[in-house]
Amino acid sequence: MKYTGSCHCGAVSFAAEGMIEQGITCNCSICHKRGSVLAFLPASAVTISGEERSTSYKFNKRVIDHHFCATCGILPYARGAMPDGTPMVALNLRCVDGLDLSTIKTVAYDGASH
Ligand SMILES: [Zn+2]
Repeated sequence: MKYTGSCHCGAVSFAAEGMIEQGITCNCSICHKRGSVLAFLPASAVTISGEERSTSYKFNKRVIDHHFCATCGILPYARGAMPDGTPMVALNLRCVDGLDLSTIKTVAYDGASH
């Protein structure tokens, strides 16, 4: 499957190839506030356009780079690494074009305790 998506104003967009079978909701301090639903893909499967127009934010252990649009403030993706060190991109499924979130299984992750 191919997926495309963007922030609200369109300055930052992505194209991804893979199978999005579930979304992760997380109760950590940042996910809780922004209400994102994330799907993790290898970075090699994702092409980002307009990354230079995003601002990134790191906190806590600073291992995840949260990229949000400097113009509209929406977060389309974050960058990090899989446990084995492979670069990964977490897509915000709320930013994927035409994706009906009610058709996707969501799994709650207890990030607040980690
Ligand atoms: Zn934007």
